[in-house]
Amino acid sequence: ATMPPMLAAIANAGRHGVLVKSARALERLARSDRAALDKTGTLTEGAPRVSDILPLTDDFAAEEVLALAAAAEHPSEHPLARAVVAAARERGVAVETAADFSAAVGRGVRAVVAGRDVAVGAPQRLVDDAAPGAARARSGAAALEDTGKTAVVVLADGRPVGLLGVADRMRPGAADAVARLRALTGTEPVLLTGDNPRAAELVAAQAGIGEARSGLLPEDKVAAVHGFEEAGHRVLMVGDGINDAPALAAAHTSIAMGRAGSDLALETADAVVVGDDLAAVPTALSLARRARRLVA
Ligand code: ADP
Ligand code: MG
Repeated sequence: ATMPPMLAAIANAGRHGVLVKSARALERLARSDRAALDKTGTLTEGAPRVSDILPLTDDFAAEEVLALAAAAEHPSEHPLARAVVAAARERGVAVETAADFSAAVGRGVRAVVAGRDVAVGAPQRLVDDAAPGAARARSGAAALEDTGKTAVVVLADGRPVGLLGVADRMRPGAADAVARLRALTGTEPVLLTGDNPRAAELVAAQAGIGEARSGLLPEDKVAAVHGFEEAGHRVLMVGDGINDAPALAAAHTSIAMGRAGSDLALETADAVVVGDDLAAVPTALSLARRARRLVA
C-alpha cells in the first residue's frame, strides 16, 4: 500500500530537516501565501560576537563595563547575552553572580551586580533622555548601528557607563531561501525584527528582502502578522526566539529554527527546522504544496 500523500510529505519534509507536527499543520503550510521572517537567529546565525567595547564615562574602564554586562546577562538565554558572556570569558574577565535578575523581552536584562543596579539592552528603550551622558550614549549607539551592528548599552544605577557593539553573520543560503519563498508564495517576504532600523535594512538587503520592519516588540510582531492576515494573506511566520512565540502563534502557520531556537518557539510553531539550514523552509513549503495538490 502507498502512503497517503500528506503523510508521505511529512516523512519527506522530515528527511529534508523539517519536523511538521501534524497533517493539519502541513495543510496550513500548503495554504500559506506570505512569508514573514525574524532577523536574529533566523536570517542570521544568531551567534553574534562582541566586536566593540566603548566606555562612556571615566570611572568605568572597558573591562569593568564588560564585567558588569556579563554578570547581568549570565542568566539570560538571549543570543546577545551569550555573546556578552563569551566576550568576558575570552578576555579573562571574571563573571560575578548577579542577584534579582529579570529579563524584559525585546528590551534587555536587569540585575544587581556588586551592589549596583545594572541594566543591559536596547539603547532606544533603556536610555532615559534625562540621564547624565544620555546624548553621548545615543550618538555612540547610532555610530555602531550605522555599520549594521547591534548597540547594547550598559547602565549602572540608571547611568549609561558603556556601549557594546555586537555583530552577527548572515546564514549562508538566506538569500536563496528568500528568493524561493518569494517564488513559491508569489508575494514579497517581510523581515520583522526587534533590532534597530539600520541592522534591519542591512540584513534585508543582504537577504534580498524588499520590506523590513524594525524596533518591534513581540506584540508588534503579532500586530504585523494580523495586518497581513487582515489584508487577505495567510502568513507563514519563521522565527527562533521567545520574542517570536506570540507571532508564531498568531500566524496562519509557523516554522521555528531549531538548533538555537528557544523552547517556547519550538513548542509554539507548527513545524521545526531541525538543523540550521534556512533552505529547509521553502523546501517544506514546496513539499506541502505538492502533497495538497495530490489530495485535492
Ligand atoms: P530579533 O527580533 O531580531 O530576534 P529581539 O527581539 O530578540 O531581536 O531583541 C530586540 C532587541 O532587544 C535587541 O536588538 C536588543 O537591543 C534588545 N535585547 C533583548 N534582549 C537582550 C539581552 N538579553 N541583552 C541585550 N539586549 C537585549
Ligand atoms: Mg530571533
